[in-house]
Amino acid sequence: MSALILQRILSFDDSPSSFTPALLQALSAGPVRATFFANGDAIQNDFPMAQEIVRAGHLLENHGWNHQHFSELSFADCQRSIMDTEGQIQRVYKSLGFTRPHKVFRFPYGNQGFPQDRFTRTWGWLTPQYRALQKFLKTQGFEGPQQSRRLRWPYSHYDRKADWLWTFDTKDWDWLEESSSARTVLASLEKQLTKRSQGQEVILMHDQTHACEARLLFLHEFLNCHKDQVVPMFQE
Ligand SMILES: [Zn+2]
Repeated sequence: MSALILQRILSFDDSPSSFTPALLQALSAGPVRATFFANGDAIQNDFPMAQEIVRAGHLLENHGWNHQHFSELSFADCQRSIMDTEGQIQRVYKSLGFTRPHKVFRFPYGNQGFPQDRFTRTWGWLTPQYRALQKFLKTQGFEGPQQSRRLRWPYSHYDRKADWLWTFDTKDWDWLEESSSARTVLASLEKQLTKRSQGQEVILMHDQTHACEARLLFLHEFLNCHKDQVVPMFQE
């Protein structure tokens, strides 16, 4: 890629939900392709909605079974959470006759197997659970971000990670159902993006029913200004 281009990846966690159709509609207005990190139990509860995501051209990817803190699970339970969700995702792609193009994983809460407080975040990547999970994900064929794409923090800290975090958290799970939530976050996103003239930004939002109008407003305004810079997680 050109070194001077700023690319933005849109990602939605905790999919699918009853908000998914509105989200798909908003993204089709771009049109842009996004990544949906789904929970296995949510796919099981609403299989047709998970199919809609794939049918609309987005990636349906793995966010664990029911949104556990991976630092609080045994390694065996972590593996089970990932693999049971894999089973659901594979079933979705297979039911549509599609080949799953990539395997991607995002830890619930960004909890990579160690507590995410400020202190442990600096050395947590040394813990056995973190290391075992990274190794497991790689063995299972999960693709992490490519360092060559100039990803920013937190990717710059860890070489060749097998999971995806984000570089900008909209914190939309905490928004109020008011346009001011969306506008405040939009302004701070713009500020972060203006400071960076190149590289990839991974924007985190959620596929949840909370503050729907504010989320849709955010997406509408964001895509109005930046849809040309929104890229899929993987460019073939
Ligand atoms: Zn989540």
